[in-house]
Amino acid sequence: MSQTWTQCLNTLKDTIPLSQYSIWVQPLKALEDGETLTLLAPNTQTKDYINKNLKTQIKAVVNQHNKDLKIFIAIDKKPVNNKRHATPLFEDYTFDNLVLGNANQMAYGATKQIAENIKGSPYNPFIIYGGSGLGKTHLMQAAGHLAKAQNPNLKILYVPLMDFVRNITSSLRHNNIEDIKLFYQSADLLLVDDIHLIAGKEKSQEEFFHIFNFLFNGKKQIIFTCDQPPKKIKLLEERLKTRFSQGLNLHLTPPELEMRAAILLKKSQNENINIELTEDVALFIAGHITSNVRDLEGALLKLKAFVDFSKIDNSFISKEVVEAALGDLIKPQIKNIDVNDIQKEVAKHYALTVSDLSSKSRKQHIVLARQMAIYICHELSSLSLNKIGKQFGNRDHSTVIHAIKKIKEKLENQDIKGDYDLIKLRLANL
Ligand code: ADP
Ligand code: MG
Repeated sequence: MSQTWTQCLNTLKDTIPLSQYSIWVQPLKALEDGETLTLLAPNTQTKDYINKNLKTQIKAVVNQHNKDLKIFIAIDKKPVNNKRHATPLFEDYTFDNLVLGNANQMAYGATKQIAENIKGSPYNPFIIYGGSGLGKTHLMQAAGHLAKAQNPNLKILYVPLMDFVRNITSSLRHNNIEDIKLFYQSADLLLVDDIHLIAGKEKSQEEFFHIFNFLFNGKKQIIFTCDQPPKKIKLLEERLKTRFSQGLNLHLTPPELEMRAAILLKKSQNENINIELTEDVALFIAGHITSNVRDLEGALLKLKAFVDFSKIDNSFISKEVVEAALGDLIKPQIKNIDVNDIQKEVAKHYALTVSDLSSKSRKQHIVLARQMAIYICHELSSLSLNKIGKQFGNRDHSTVIHAIKKIKEKLENQDIKGDYDLIKLRLANL
């Protein structure tokens, strides 16, 4: 801080109303080079206010202390705040935590090779594309971790595309787009996540084009993720499409059954999940959840919660427990089951005979079993209501409708729901 300014402040404090002094004068920073006193205002508003209302007064006071000093008022340009523009890498998204399979083998190999050779990779830009939840972000960040581990001095920037767009938008408002560009251009490895989201955002595309060229020409590595092959993105400038397609574009596909099971087994051992799955049970879950890895993780978390809250012994996670925990996620794929099989399973479950189900008995537990069997027949067989009625001692279709309605109500009861789930599970495994 300039010494002259420190002395001036004491005088100004007494001559300017205190509220005005503390809002406008106190925040100023001062630089003095012998000829000029530069007062740095934190923003345009302060600069304008001082120029308009206080400059004469300030000048007078300054010249009392040093009559030759010129005064200059400017805006204090803050150094670019790195934290605002980049997101740190997720700790867990490392190569070590990735399960390998046909679905990602090639992308894995390429990513690793690029990360190990960040300064001389022929694959620039490198684009990992594929559907949601398949591990694109994970793989890209694994490259960041590995590159950093090999060379801690590298500047690695990870940017979700929407953050980039937000930064561009706010830089237009604050008039500091050059700072933002300089920031991205300072990267040795730029990781841009979900680049497809740039579609239709013209200003962001324009700025990105310049950043891209700068880095590319400087032989800096760029990695993107995208939800489709870049050349297919609609509303993306042709020149960007061309640039992106020049690099290596690799596809991540949904993991196959064994890979899904391996992912479940690996993640079940994570300290935040920590449940014991057998290979059989992992295959069972993987057989039902086929979409993507994120859904597998969701299923594990649900299973963990079930095990924790129902206090089931961790080492007894059976298929039945999985069924109960995951419910809808694991709906048995059973259709068109034979009515006789349904009757047999229901009768067995309630310790009755198949003929009890067709009898005229009104005993409560027989009625429940009969209605349950009718309900499941309606759900799982393709028979009409009339035909179902015929199979249960020639009852008419209004009795069938009544039975379905009754069970619908009774499924609210946990015990009855438990019976129902178990019978269906057995039918699914016939
Ligand atoms: P995307 O970016 O393709 O939508 P993510 O990279 O966010 O998908 O992955 C979703 C979740 O699945 C993450 O928690 C990630 O760690 C996990 N994941 C994806 N692929 C694998 C894999 N091969 N092995 C282990 N975990 C994986
Ligand atoms: Mg992602």
